[in-house]
Amino acid sequence: MSMKRVANFCIDNTVKDTALIANSSIRGFVMVSNVESEGKISAPMVQVRLQHVTCMEDAALFITLSAAIDLIIDAYLEAVSYNSLQYAKSLEIAAIGKDVWVFDIDETLLSMAPFFAAKGWGSEPYEKATWIEWQEEGPQPALPASLNLYKELQQLGFNLILITGHLNLAPSEVDTPATIYKSQKRKELEDEGYKIWGSSGDQWSDLMGFSQAKRSFKLPNLMYYIA
Ligand SMILES: [Mg+2]
Repeated sequence: MSMKRVANFCIDNTVKDTALIANSSIRGFVMVSNVESEGKISAPMVQVRLQHVTCMEDAALFITLSAAIDLIIDAYLEAVSYNSLQYAKSLEIAAIGKDVWVFDIDETLLSMAPFFAAKGWGSEPYEKATWIEWQEEGPQPALPASLNLYKELQQLGFNLILITGHLNLAPSEVDTPATIYKSQKRKELEDEGYKIWGSSGDQWSDLMGFSQAKRSFKLPNLMYYIA
């Protein structure tokens, strides 16, 4: 763990058996984890209730792993962004706007973490209507590593095109599998004379199928999978 990335944990057992929690389902101690790291969008907070663990060591291990995973995902995103940029810099592109880099939006350019945080990180049932409602409230925070890549690619002269399946689909497209829908959109670009050098997405369905980019870059997503 670098000096810039610091994880702090504390155990708060002062709430034990107080009147404050007399009517609460929380019994015993509550542990809180705050993680600060370079480029973070939001510091995750983890609370563990006593009934979820059999001993203090279990809770400490749970929180430590949660923080470690959070830091690993950040490092992963930065590594993907770095590798994408190194590849982009190795290319010679023309100045006519036909050299394209395709981005997905959700969990690629923008983070849906605040939504999942509000929904117990997957512990509550997924409701599509709530998800759409939340997205339309926008704006969602950018993923810092992806935002940096986006700006760098712009500077290099790439035409940046966003292909997303999350909003504004035509009725005929709603039931189209993501892999097919995104391939069709890339095919349309190809047919119009665009050359797709790179593609970034958090789902394999963003990247696979036909009319694939010359190189594809897969970002991590621990929350959901779209076929
Ligand atoms: Mg996505």
